Amino acid sequence: MKKTIGLIASLVLLSTICFAQDLQTDIFNTNKGDLKINFVKHGSIFFEFDGKTIHIDPVLRMGNYENYPKADLIIITHHHGDHFDLNAIDLLLKENTKIILTQTCDEISENISAIIVMQNGDVLNINQMEIEAVPAYNIMNKRENGVPFHPKGEGNGYILKLADKTIYVAGDTENIPEMESFSDIDIAFLPMNLPYTMTPEMVAKAAKVFNPNILYPYHYGNTNTSTLIDLLKVEKNIEVRIKKM
Ligand code: ZN
Ligand code: ZN
Repeated sequence: MKKTIGLIASLVLLSTICFAQDLQTDIFNTNKGDLKINFVKHGSIFFEFDGKTIHIDPVLRMGNYENYPKADLIIITHHHGDHFDLNAIDLLLKENTKIILTQTCDEISENISAIIVMQNGDVLNINQMEIEAVPAYNIMNKRENGVPFHPKGEGNGYILKLADKTIYVAGDTENIPEMESFSDIDIAFLPMNLPYTMTPEMVAKAAKVFNPNILYPYHYGNTNTSTLIDLLKVEKNIEVRIKKM
């Protein structure tokens, strides 16, 4: 019995250490307290703010989701398997969890409730936070049959207003003309990998269009992040931060 308790205790300790090691976190001060941004992997991140946890594109194989806080809000950019994982959603549910997703995700999700479908252009106020769904699509990069990997209108990027911080999570997109209308973005997540999203050059171009204070390239796989740093070196107003994702 003692042995079992000892084993359980060390397992708990081990999982706590793993949680700490596998997660990278940046903390930002807002006018309503700290905003913690946790970087899981690929397109998966989560925010902790004002006592609430907001998971974006949680996918089980990207992190130790058993150990992460349950979700008050889950936001999904699109239905591809590296962004939309019903098992991850199931694991993160607690009482009153709300789930924002796209029409296509909704069509393939049975048995989950509290779903809010957002389409490009929709704006929603939830938990004292404003969320706008913005377009996310390919212009150049297409499948062999000519259909873009991400057709216009199918997926969402999201612009979230948390207290005095505006955060743009782009989802899978290229640098699209709609970005010209984005303003006052404090923190941006832009995807950088071929053939599905953007080259470092495209990410740099996108960033120069709406000038985020802080830019996190994400979803970058093996793409060389130093190329992006070089391309934006002269842009003194954009700080590029690289997280192991
Ligand atoms: Zn995708
Ligand atoms: Zn993706």
